[in-house]
Amino acid sequence: MIELSVETRHTSEMVDITEKVREAAIKKGIKSGLVAVFTPHTTASIVLFENVDPKLRRDFLESLGRIAPASHNYHHQGENAAAHIKSALCGARVVVPMENAKLMLGEWQGIFLCEFDGPRERKVIVQVIG
Ligand code: ZN
Repeated sequence: MIELSVETRHTSEMVDITEKVREAAIKKGIKSGLVAVFTPHTTASIVLFENVDPKLRRDFLESLGRIAPASHNYHHQGENAAAHIKSALCGARVVVPMENAKLMLGEWQGIFLCEFDGPRERKVIVQVIG
């Protein structure tokens, strides 16, 4: 298991962690298997997303904002109910196949940490199952 640290800079953003995950996975010395990427947070997520157009990331975050708007009158005591809801909807993990030390991602796929309550230091756990 490898623990990565990802620093976020905004309240809401998507950080491409594909290279960090690839490097972590290769370090384990297992060339083929499954790479599990997990974040142990309730106001952040791990997703696969289109990795070329930053405007699409903005569209995604704004779409989530329409599902769970920041200004809604939530029951949760903290001020981050919307962030918890977005995190649960997007999920905390992805699993990517690896073959010959190469992540078998599609051409337009990247692994992203979604921040919903930043800026913060986020933990990402990478586990390679050979
Ligand atoms: Zn909370």
